[in-house]
Amino acid sequence: MKLTFCGGVGEVTGSRHWLRAEGLSLLLDCGLFQGHRGESLDKNRRFLFKPGELDAVLLSHAHIDHSGALPLLAKQGYGKKILCTPATAELCQLMLLDSAHLQEHDAAFFNKIHAKRGLSIAPLYGEAEAKACLGLFEGRAFGETIALSDRVRARFQPAGHVLGSAMTHVEVDTARGRRRIVFTGDLGRRRGLMMDPPHVPSNVDYLLIESTYGDRVHDPVSLVEGQLKDVIDRAVAQQGKILIPSFALERTQEIVFVIEKLRRHGHIPPVPVYIDSPMAVSITDLFNKYKDGFSFAPEFKAYAAKEGDPFGFESLRYVRTSEESKRLNDLPGPMIILSASGMCEGGRILHHLRNNIDKDSTTILIVGYQAEGTLGRRLADGAKKVKIFGLEHEVWARVEVMHTFSAHADKVDLTWFIQSLQPRPRRIFLVHGDPRDRQALAAHLKALGVERLELPEYGDEFELD
Ligand SMILES: [Zn+2]
Repeated sequence: MKLTFCGGVGEVTGSRHWLRAEGLSLLLDCGLFQGHRGESLDKNRRFLFKPGELDAVLLSHAHIDHSGALPLLAKQGYGKKILCTPATAELCQLMLLDSAHLQEHDAAFFNKIHAKRGLSIAPLYGEAEAKACLGLFEGRAFGETIALSDRVRARFQPAGHVLGSAMTHVEVDTARGRRRIVFTGDLGRRRGLMMDPPHVPSNVDYLLIESTYGDRVHDPVSLVEGQLKDVIDRAVAQQGKILIPSFALERTQEIVFVIEKLRRHGHIPPVPVYIDSPMAVSITDLFNKYKDGFSFAPEFKAYAAKEGDPFGFESLRYVRTSEESKRLNDLPGPMIILSASGMCEGGRILHHLRNNIDKDSTTILIVGYQAEGTLGRRLADGAKKVKIFGLEHEVWARVEVMHTFSAHADKVDLTWFIQSLQPRPRRIFLVHGDPRDRQALAAHLKALGVERLELPEYGDEFELD
């Protein structure tokens, strides 16, 4: 058996791991590299394997850094199955098309501003290519055994990260005995808001585990209601708008769920809430469709069964059209607007920011990871002036940052997961984390006596006994 790390090592995007076992060639995830344009473009287009020679793709979850290069894989000759859970397959239908539209939009924008210099780029992929790859998806239930050959089987197990997210198990009958490789994908928290905690697998020989927050301990989710209530109470007192840049998958639904609980228990007044993102609206429909499924925690299911729709209440409005979105500008506060993109790099949130950032009654509530160089990051860092659509705006709005929300395991959760594995794996590969976080987690684990840790780099190949 051979394992080659083709992305998502020493960084948090471009997750791609290539496993060859008993004559089969398998790809675990096929994520998009995101970041500096030139370097990412090259890494996105260049696979370290021949796409046409793969036998199957096993996809952990729908986030673009894990699924976003699948259209490129298909474009370069891959025509076999993309296996994942049914919820992930449905989420990818929305998210890969959205990704294609973004690629097309980005390329058109680049070409427009560089037209005078004669520079132009082609989108990584477009809608037609995304649609072609969507035809290869095949949903498989959690726990179902997927026979890939008479000696190789796969299975998905809940990872607790986002709706449909799975750990991928690959079981191989070799001449030396049975071997099990487990790739955690992104791992959820031991105590999250909605998701069931990750299920700890048994008899793992080789573990590939993420390390995104290998050097951080999150605030407990028990604080989230109180923190959000304080922000809402203050905005209501000032009759202001709360603008929440939010990722369409998971974060939006989590916030709606928390607001719903606060309202139901009378902890906040009935302030209007608008979900101003067509994709978030469609994804919320999928949350409702799958809310009795394996991804969700028993407490969440019990709440939904007892109290009714966790993503709907009287003063909540789902906004689909841009006309409805524009009308929000004319309405007085208080109100809460959740809109994409989550890092304020595009989308409708920019219009809301442009119209409200210079009012001291406005609150901008940052609830997610903000990458270096994004408008969201500048706001979170306390910038007093920012540019939106090329025009400078003074920031009079109050900017609040909540660290309580996270869909990723932290250092404590990752350590718990690894220490729960019995017997200890033959080797543990730390993937999906910036170098500093990954090193810190490795040092922490070593101090606890965890051995046989590997920190692979891009292109590294390992022989598995
Ligand atoms: Zn993820």
